[in-house]
Parts: sequence; structure tokens; C-alpha cells
Amino acid sequence: MKHLPLLLAFLFVACVSSQKNIAFDPETYATTITAQELKEHLYTYASDAFLGREAGTEGETIAINYLKAEYESLGIKGGMPNGDYFMPMTLNAYRENKTFDANNVLAYIEGSEKPDEILVITAHLDHIGIEADGQINNGADDDGSGNVAILEIAEAFKQAVKDGNGPKRSILFLHVTGEEKGLLGSKYYTDNPVYPLEHTVANLNIDMIGRIDALHEEKPNYIYLIGSDILSQDLHDVSAAMNDSYVNLELDYRYNDPTTEVFERGRYIENRYYYRSDHYNFAKNNIPVIFYFNGTHEDYHAPTDTVEKIEYDLLEKRTKLIFHTAWEIANRDERLKLKE
Ligand SMILES: [Zn+2]
Repeated sequence: MKHLPLLLAFLFVACVSSQKNIAFDPETYATTITAQELKEHLYTYASDAFLGREAGTEGETIAINYLKAEYESLGIKGGMPNGDYFMPMTLNAYRENKTFDANNVLAYIEGSEKPDEILVITAHLDHIGIEADGQINNGADDDGSGNVAILEIAEAFKQAVKDGNGPKRSILFLHVTGEEKGLLGSKYYTDNPVYPLEHTVANLNIDMIGRIDALHEEKPNYIYLIGSDILSQDLHDVSAAMNDSYVNLELDYRYNDPTTEVFERGRYIENRYYYRSDHYNFAKNNIPVIFYFNGTHEDYHAPTDTVEKIEYDLLEKRTKLIFHTAWEIANRDERLKLKE
């Protein structure tokens, strides 16, 4: 027993030093993001039971209730001022000439040091519903992949909070509705922001990250990044550094130029991706964005965009890249700077 004080001293030092390591190593939390959990979420979220998740329909109601239940089970609170998860709105689907009621889903982790500064991570919760012949558009890639990625990123940050290593800045996990009808839910949010846009430091938007496009069949370890250096060089540099340190994907920037052509629906057109998903509603408000995207494929907007075609190991890797980028943006000393 005479060595007990020495043993206690040793244990004390070991505990302190291991806690310190945890505090500065986001990899501890990135490992909670797994292909298996992404797959389990997606086999629910992109199942027939979700009826193709068209905004304003029963399918949307099923989707938003699923997201809410997942955040409740993670112990992450709603992002509305009263703590609710749902942001209700009446939208005008100008393409169909009708109005309908719909909801964004907001979940929120408050920052420990700079709670007023907020990072927004988005994916669109809706898809294109059911075909006239009854086939369901499950949208496993578009954008089931983005929604389940956010759930796993949120879980990782929540684990960090539990360990006393929560993000210094606040994070809003924002699942937007009505994207497929014209970026409507993200426009509603930026027109009616819950957190001031001038305090919104960046938007990371995830829309289709579970597949491989025709250009990368031989080299599938990639992701397209769009917009990263348009408003903030800091954002671009942080993103590239996190990729080098932790993930090592090929970051393909070819669509940063909106005039780069893509083959879509039988013809070549200018890609214009910078304007075509929800990040644009943040970018137009001078908020730096990155759009994470795997490119289109033959199942784009078709009932064949299904869960068994998703590359889950790649989805995990891409999700980890977004997590590490979010971690750095939320924890770095300086807020991301805009270009002059
Ligand atoms: Zn999409």
C-alpha cells in the first residue's frame, strides 16, 4: 500500500493529459461518424415509407418528424427561439402555381465562447415525391445523403459537448424544405433568419454526397467543392487544410466556374451549380459557402436513386471532411474573413 500516493499521482497526471488530448483532437469525435450508422439512417430516410418527401405533402411530415425524433434522442434542442424544431411557412410553388404549407427543421448547439457567431450546416429535407405511375422517388443520394450526414455530424458535436469540448461558436443544423420546387425553404430562412445573417460566419451545404459520377469511375476518392474561395479565401484554405490533415479526398473544383459544361438530360449545359442549391441563398447575403456535391448520375431525379446504390464508405469519408471543416470554423480564434 505504500505506493498508493504515487499511483494516485500517476493516475491524476494520466487523466489530465488524456483530457487535454481529447480537447484538441477532433478525430476523437470524427470516429463517431460511421458508414454503418449513415446506412442505418438512410435505409429509413430514403425508404418507400417516406413517400418521396415532397414538400407540403404527407411525405414531408414523415421526414420532419423523423429528423425531430433523431435530434431529441441525441439530446440536441430545437433551433427556433422557443426551442421548437419546426419552422413553419407558407410557400408559393411558382413552377406549379400553387401555395402550400411546409416546414424547415432546425437543431442547435450553442457555442461555449462566441455563442452569437453561428455556422449553418444545410441539406434539403424534401425530394420530388411520387411519379404519376405510382413509383416513389426515394432520393437516397438527393438528398437523403445530406440529411443523414448532418445527423452524424450533429451526433459528433454533441459527444464533444458532453466531454466539455463543445464548439466555441454556435452551430445550426438546418434541414430545409422546398429545394426541389426552387430553393424555397432556404430562401424563407434567409428572408426570416432566426439568427442574424451578419453573425452567420459560413454555410456548409450538402446536396448529394453518396455516389460516384461518370467522370470519377476510375478515381472515386473525390468530392466536388463549389464556392469555397468565392467570398472568403480563409474558408477555402481551412477546407483544404482539414482535407490534408484528416481525410485526403481529391477536392475537385472544376464547377467553381459556373460556365464549366456538364452533360444533363441528354445535352451539354453550363453547370451553374453555385446558383442551384440552398447555399446560394446564403451566398447572395455575402455569407461564405461551400457546396459539397458528387455530381449528377443516371439516377438523378429518378425513382432509381435508391439506397443500395450509395457508396457508404465514401459517404463516411465525405461526411468526415465536412465535420472537420465545421469543427475548425467553429473553434478557430478568428472568424472567417471575407475577401476585400
Ligand atoms: Zn438536391
